[in-house]
This record gives sequence, structure tokens and C-alpha cells, in this order.
Amino acid sequence: MDYDSLFRKQIDTLKSEGNYRIFAELERRCGQFPRAANHGTGAPEITVWCSNDYLGMGQHPAVTGAMKDGIDRCGAGAGGTRNISGTNILHRELEEELADLHGKEAALLFTSGYVSNWAALSTLGARLPGAVILSDAFNHASMIEGIRHSRADKVIWRHNDPEDLDRKLAAIPAERPKIVAFESVYSMDGDIAPIREIVEVAEKHGAMTYLDEVHGVGLYGPRGGGVAEQEGLMDRITLIEGTLGKAFGVVGGYITGSEPLVDFVRSFASGFIFTTALPPAVAAAATASIRHLKTSDAERMLQRRQVAKVRAKLDALGIPHLPNPSHIIPVMIGDPVKCRQISDILMDSYGIYVQPINYPTVPKGTERLRITPSPLHTDADIDHMVGALGALWKQCALAHAVA
Ligand SMILES: *Cc1c(COP(=O)(O)O)cnc(C)c1O
Repeated sequence: MDYDSLFRKQIDTLKSEGNYRIFAELERRCGQFPRAANHGTGAPEITVWCSNDYLGMGQHPAVTGAMKDGIDRCGAGAGGTRNISGTNILHRELEEELADLHGKEAALLFTSGYVSNWAALSTLGARLPGAVILSDAFNHASMIEGIRHSRADKVIWRHNDPEDLDRKLAAIPAERPKIVAFESVYSMDGDIAPIREIVEVAEKHGAMTYLDEVHGVGLYGPRGGGVAEQEGLMDRITLIEGTLGKAFGVVGGYITGSEPLVDFVRSFASGFIFTTALPPAVAAAATASIRHLKTSDAERMLQRRQVAKVRAKLDALGIPHLPNPSHIIPVMIGDPVKCRQISDILMDSYGIYVQPINYPTVPKGTERLRITPSPLHTDADIDHMVGALGALWKQCALAHAVA
């Protein structure tokens, strides 16, 4: 058996479809966000326009300082799984901070947001007898995999459509446990769920709600508790899941909810139990980041201003982007090869890094550049980036006219 040729064949298919992933090799420069050195092809010094470190908190002195202190206090690693010597006081402080952030009784840490979704949904779906999981059609891969792993019955409802959810819930016997799983901010289109309507439909049918706030935490709500906080709905959501790796700028994932719910997942979730705990210093950094964003609105306000500026300048040049109420600006290209080409030219000729987003992250034909302005992108950065896109757009339009 020539296994390598089996591997290569499928990789070649990806390449011929323009869906092969090439990583930009960066060296982020601490204190200079969003600048980075580029060790791959393209300009050697670049400005990052596609980071999920939405507010630059990964370089905030309060956060890096807490991480350094954490290492000095506790060393590099946790030393074990949570159950076997790995639970540190810094984990407990972070869990208390997270429970408070979402107004819940308890919180539980995981090594990533992906793992938290996978572990929590697979545990709930597998262990609640006769459970049905109702999943929004656009849910993230981590939720889909968790639901699949649970082997519970799954019903997919139309994206952001509470009426479709209502019909689908009505068809399920009242005595079966029901879990409505959805996100607040959908990361690729940047659209926001009608959380209130979804919660009302779920309550009407006695379903629990599972909300992924990964792209909302730190960014929305007066304390950065997410879109549900902004809408005054946190107390009506059964389980809120989030990440420490995006707006909080560190790494890790979590769930929050009632004490029995969190104790249940803590006690049964394989993806929580059988893995080494996060380094205590990472927990300390995340705690510092959450605490900072609980009281400081400056980063959120400035981010909103820069997002609005980018949108207005794109509009002025007639560059199409999906309208949405969030901080995510998808510039639609609609072709994987062209999307990659535009991204390459931006990187090579302008020192602008926007990763092309292709299938399977988004449906074929909806390939895009996903732009995430931060409070640390200057007005000059915006002019440079939108100007470059404008120049490329003109060239493409010209090429279309000739062809
Ligand atoms: C990124 C993402 C996750 C996973 O979070 P990580 O902390 O990066 O593992 C979960 N849900 C959604 C919607 C995401 O976009």
C-alpha cells in the first residue's frame, strides 16, 4: 500500500479546487498590534486585518503582565488533569470571573472553545435520556461535531428563523428533553441571532437553550458579557458558552450555567476530564483580560468607530460587503481562486494580510475576505487597506469588461 499517494490524491483535489490552505507565517510584534513580521511569502512587515484578537487584548499590558506573574508564581504548566493535581487557584478565580460575567451560578473551563462546545453538547445529548438537539443550520463545526458525537436525535432549523424552530419544536413530544443550540454572532456573515425570539420559542416548548457567544464576549454588552448581556437576556439562556481566545486575546473555552448543569458536565464530559488543565498563567491572563473589559468600554467604542469607517469607505468605492450589525466585515468575492489571488496581491504588494475564506468554512460560491477592524487600526491603516482593495477592484472590473 502506498499510503502517501492516497494522501496526496485528496490534497491534489483541494489544490485544483483552490481550497488548499496555506498558512501565513507570522511573528506578532508585542506592543505593535496589528503589525507583524511575515516569514512566509509576501511583504516582510505586514498589518493584520483578519485577527480574532478583536481588541488587541493579547498584547494588553494588564494581560501580558498577569501571564508573566502567573508563570513566576506557578511555573509553566498545570501539572495534571483537573482531577489529578491540575486544579490551580488561578483556574478557580477565572471560573468565578466567568460565572459573574454571565450572571450564572457556575462556570467550567476547557482547553479551547472548540473543546467546550464539543464536550458540553456531546455530554448533554448523550446523557439526557431521549434528548433532541435542535441546531441552527449555520452552527460552528465544534457544535456540529459535539452533536454528532452525542448520537442524540438532531433537528436542523433554518438559520436565525424562530418560526421554523417553533414548528420543529412543536413536532417533538413534550416529555423529551430538548436543547436549542445556536450562536449570537455568526462569524463568517457577521449576522446576529434574534436571541429574544429564539428564547421565547424555546421557553414556550420547555426547551433548554445553548448559546455560543464566542464572537460576542468582550465585544457586546456593558461588561463584555456578549450579545445576550446587551439584550438583557443572559438569565433566560440555560447555558452560555464562550472562548478566551478571541476578544479576550488568550486561549481556552468555557461554559456557564446553573450549578447542577455545570457540575453535570464537569462530572461526565470526557473532553473535560481526560486532558491536562490550562496553564495557570494562561488562566491568570484571561482573568485579567475579562476584568479589564468588564469596566473599560474604550476598546469596544473605538472598535465600533473603526468598523464604521471601514464600511463607509468601502461603500464610497462601491466594494460589496455583507451588511450586518456586528464588527465583522465580509467582502464577497464568490470564487476561491480569485479570493486567494486578491489576498496574495494584498500581502505581496501592500503588506496587508487578509486571509481568504474558502470552502468548507463557507459555502462554495460565497468565498470572501473577512475583515476585522480593531481599535488599534489607525485611520491611515484604514485608508491604505481600502485604497488597495479599491485599486484591485478596478483592475478586476477592467478584466471583466475585456473578457
Ligand atoms: C472559533 C469558534 C469556536 C472555537 O473557539 P476556540 O476557542 O477558537 O476553539 C467556537 N464557536 C465558534 C462560533 C467559533 O467561531
